[in-house]
Amino acid sequence: MSYPATFYAETRADRADRPALQGAHETDTVIVGGGLAGLTTALELAKEGVKVTLLEAESIGFGASGRNGGIVSAEYACGAAGIRARAGAAGAARLAALSREGVRRLRDHIAEFAIAEAAPTPGLLHLRRFDQGADLEAEAGGHEGLTYLNARAIGERLATRRYLHGIEDRTAFHIHPLNYLRGLARAAERLGVTIHESSPATGVELGATQVVATAQGRVTARQAVFATGGYTGPLVPRLRRAVLPIATYMMVTEPAPELLAEVIRTPMAVLDDRRASDYYRVVGGRMIWGGRITTRAASDAGVAADLHRAMAEVYPRLQGLRVSHAWSGLMGYATHRMPQIGQLATGAWHITAFGGHGLNTTAMAGKVLAEAMLGQSDRIRDFAPFGLTWAGGIAGLAVAQLTYWGLQAQDRWRERG
Ligand SMILES: Cc1cc2nc3c(=O)[nH]c(=O)nc-3n(C[C@H](O)[C@H](O)[C@H](O)COP(=O)(O)OP(=O)(O)OC[C@H]3O[C@@H](n4cnc5c(N)ncnc54)[C@H](O)[C@@H]3O)c2cc1C
Repeated sequence: MSYPATFYAETRADRADRPALQGAHETDTVIVGGGLAGLTTALELAKEGVKVTLLEAESIGFGASGRNGGIVSAEYACGAAGIRARAGAAGAARLAALSREGVRRLRDHIAEFAIAEAAPTPGLLHLRRFDQGADLEAEAGGHEGLTYLNARAIGERLATRRYLHGIEDRTAFHIHPLNYLRGLARAAERLGVTIHESSPATGVELGATQVVATAQGRVTARQAVFATGGYTGPLVPRLRRAVLPIATYMMVTEPAPELLAEVIRTPMAVLDDRRASDYYRVVGGRMIWGGRITTRAASDAGVAADLHRAMAEVYPRLQGLRVSHAWSGLMGYATHRMPQIGQLATGAWHITAFGGHGLNTTAMAGKVLAEAMLGQSDRIRDFAPFGLTWAGGIAGLAVAQLTYWGLQAQDRWRERG
């Protein structure tokens, strides 16, 4: 098996090469990081007439935002109980509403900026592999867009007996994530945002004005935003200490449109509700399958074989399908598993740690942060309970890996029999 670059990069709509930063520049706001978090913030500020310069170390789409599963649904990486424990019932309700706002905003961006090549495909099946469904029936009951599915209803949609209960969520959808990101970048540029690629920020001075330096240039601005996700380096030590980089993996199979149409009889994406979940969808007659996390880089080929095993375990008929692409990406996680959106110092902001639930949450967070920077709202306060807590460094990574293995074991235990 050979593994070329990400499948998305081969099917992307276009690719603009943007020059590296050279020389000294002044602007209103400098943003470090050209993933969804940085670009959405840039776009929301530019809409309000703010002059923005964005610095991306590699190219737009290099990070998690250009490599992810493309599934857009409400909620956060942290479950509802964890959010309530820190934010209280009222705070948790506001945060839940914000996560739904993120789903709407992302859909609206695609329409508003005419990103046809990231057109949403509706629907997500949220499935369970053990026999307990009363809570799912209650969760779906009375909610427009949600339907409880029993094993028979799931069997009509998917040729597997692995899943016993589930929810069909018609408010969720899936997209080509790299095309969406590139569409956002083009829209931001049309609104006047200057984007520099191949421009890693190497130094920063925060004070009355903010200065961000690269190897060949510097930007002086009234405000600075750090949006470096799981690729956060030593630039701002407080951020580095608060974000755990966690790797996760995707694979794509060779095309097999007829076989896949027999096995996956729905255009919806699928996500199981294990703590260590699999998520997948059929696009262009290929299976795109994601899952697994590691805290140390694992070989993409090794994990692709692991993901292929997972796919064949759920769908034995797909055993013979070959993998054509496999890749990994880094997610940024805080120990509380919630996004970290706030202020580092006067005029310096951070928007990071979206974990494995970054599509809806960045679409909302960029707006919430822009409102705070412009003094338009204090919705950012809802994220105050989820600050820049120390992630524990190397020990934190070890704990995260052990926790994941423990959760995998719990998942297997619940599914025994
Ligand atoms: C394989 C995978 C599958 C996923 N699937 C889903 C999914 O289906 N649904 C979902 O909602 N979420 C998913 N996620 C999570 C989601 O992709 C992320 O939460 C989201 O993209 C994070 O966006 P970001 O802008 O914070 O980070 P990124 O997209 O990682 O962007 C950070 C950028 O900062 C740049 N950078 C870092 N340091 C510097 C510096 N010093 N100077 C300049 N630039 C710098 C990096 O090069 C990078 O481009 C997945 C993630 C992965 C990895």
